[in-house]
Amino acid sequence: MELWYTEKQTENFGITAKVKQTLHTEQTEFQRLDMLETEEFGNMLTLDGMVMTTEKDEFVYHEMVAHVPLFTHPNPKHVLVVGGGDGGVLREIVKHPEVEKATLVDIDGKVIEYSKKYLPTISSAFDHSKVEVKVGDGFMHIAESRDAYDVIMVDSTEPVGPAVKLFEKGFYEGISKALKEDGLFIAQTDNPWFKADLIAQVFKDVKEIFPITKLYTANVPTYPSGLWTFTIGSKKYDPLDVPEERFHDIETKYYTKEIHKASFVLPKFVGDIIK
Ligand code: SAM
Repeated sequence: MELWYTEKQTENFGITAKVKQTLHTEQTEFQRLDMLETEEFGNMLTLDGMVMTTEKDEFVYHEMVAHVPLFTHPNPKHVLVVGGGDGGVLREIVKHPEVEKATLVDIDGKVIEYSKKYLPTISSAFDHSKVEVKVGDGFMHIAESRDAYDVIMVDSTEPVGPAVKLFEKGFYEGISKALKEDGLFIAQTDNPWFKADLIAQVFKDVKEIFPITKLYTANVPTYPSGLWTFTIGSKKYDPLDVPEERFHDIETKYYTKEIHKASFVLPKFVGDIIK
């Protein structure tokens, strides 16, 4: 008998993955958490039935969330991750020697707990000396922060449940206040095939707050449509104006300085969304 996990990415379309075994499943205070061992993508974390990360393809997303902003900022000492409870973005952040402190705020401690247990290659940086982990609402943390961070990364779930407010203009205004005067932030902003309206709305809101606002993409096979977007809002530094000498070597499997630049070149239908 075969067992398959299916994520309905829209009411009429989805992906399905053959499951070896269910490693853990529970209804946490905030969401349904499932940890599955899949044949194709290794261990897979899903929240409310949506793929969050898998052992096989996680590096694409986590490298693109971390390295585009961290190479764009000339000296990112203080970094904040909102969400990111699987630890993958943290693992990438600590590869940058200039980072002095990386704070992660995830609302659900169970995500951190079970990522440590079942996603050891992704959650390896939680105990790093530069890392501070907090369990709490990222929206509140941002509202209470002033002039505190060089770079902020919003690695949240899709705008459902506790993450809804992380896609509203007020949150981005809060991010601007939490950033230093030359700070910048990125947020994962879903896919252009099924969530064009979300991308358009977020881009419009961020553009009204940040002088430099751009969209970049990456291929994440287990995310809806496989084409994922990220929105960057920057007070001073342009991601497409990074001095060559800034790109110091780090170990990656997807990100390169060429990908950094190319990821901002958008297919016409994606560019049209943010026009
Ligand atoms: N890469 C994934 C994606 O693009 O959908 C996100 C991965 S990460 C596991 C998403 C995290 O956002 C979850 O651990 C969830 O608990 C967290 N989250 C959702 N709403 C939050 C909030 N208001 N404050 C802090 N973390 C939140």
